Amino acid sequence: MSIVSITKASGDDEQGVAKAVREAIRELGGIADIVKPGYLVIVKPNLVAVPSERVTGAVTRWEVSKAVADVVRELGAKPVIAESSSAGVDTEKVIEKTEYDTLRKQGYEVVDLKKTPAVTVKVPGKGKVFDEMKTWELVEKADAIISVPVLKTHDQTEITLGMKNIKGLISDAHKKDFHRYGVLDGVVDMLLAFKPVLTVIDGTCGQEGIGPIFGTPVHMGLIVASKDLVAADAVGGRIMGYDPKDVPITVRAAARGLGEMDLSKIEIRGVPIAEVERRFVRASETKIEGLPPFDLLFDEGACTGCRNTVISAIMDMKNQNLESRLENKCVVCGPLDESKLPKDMPKEKIVLVGICTKHLEERGVFVPGCPPNNIYVVRGVVGEEVANRY
Ligand code: SF4
Repeated sequence: MSIVSITKASGDDEQGVAKAVREAIRELGGIADIVKPGYLVIVKPNLVAVPSERVTGAVTRWEVSKAVADVVRELGAKPVIAESSSAGVDTEKVIEKTEYDTLRKQGYEVVDLKKTPAVTVKVPGKGKVFDEMKTWELVEKADAIISVPVLKTHDQTEITLGMKNIKGLISDAHKKDFHRYGVLDGVVDMLLAFKPVLTVIDGTCGQEGIGPIFGTPVHMGLIVASKDLVAADAVGGRIMGYDPKDVPITVRAAARGLGEMDLSKIEIRGVPIAEVERRFVRASETKIEGLPPFDLLFDEGACTGCRNTVISAIMDMKNQNLESRLENKCVVCGPLDESKLPKDMPKEKIVLVGICTKHLEERGVFVPGCPPNNIYVVRGVVGEEVANRY
């Protein structure tokens, strides 16, 4: 039977968080069976993009990653905290904002994978979407991977927990392929190549609403851990009020034999789910207040880079009192079919974000980039002349 542990942190301070992480791992019977002396172990936090504050539930707080790295060290293995943020994002800037750089000063290895040599590895067996993964030498060399995500909702995949977190081990160009060719089965293919031996979810502060970056922080004070990556996500999702059957990555990973999603077959140790569950607001239920009527067309193939850029550009417009310029416009993201564009809309009303929309260039204001910088999206919406006044 798969086991998932849930523990409560006594506080947000380093000691309180570390104690909860250690307790969660102890409830699983320890990890000496999966982390052996001499192993190179990648501890993979979620550092997807630069958050507005250090702790907003968008990224894994360093206290959790450090506690996991300490347990790995105590077993005689070598932990390396490694991440590549979403496509187009400078990982170093995320490391700085989230204060992971302070761990470097304490002697922990914190690696921006984007600065390391790349390599291509085969997906064992046959992938549904990909037969190979473009990754980094360090990932290929690792003896074990530990996924350390944060508890949050996602605008495209309902939630993002331990399984989707592993996408940070993939090169930027290849991350974009996932959104073009199929993020759901693509993630499962990726997990066949890089299956984490342990998931430790940072549920100290989660995030609801428009994840993965712009949601609302939710203080939960929890750590959730499992050696079964599907069970960890099933329970993490359940804590946020999701039936595992409603979470597409969980369903596909379970169907392809990566783990257990049936809650009746998962043993919960520590705190019962019923004691800590809280329904998180879904991304689809969230509206950015105070915006005029306009259309936002996110094609299925639009990746996190462009989705975040567009939401972030809209926030920038609000902060500069420019949101009225969105009125009756249509902002398009990803490789959308032309038939889905509003018919007879004048060219100046359609804003095409990113190179994936280049084929529609004749129909709107094209904003190049992959993803483009926010400022160019704002300019595409408000026009050069207005933008130059700000
Ligand atoms: S343009 Fe945007 S949606 Fe297209 S690949 Fe680049 S980041 Fe992804």
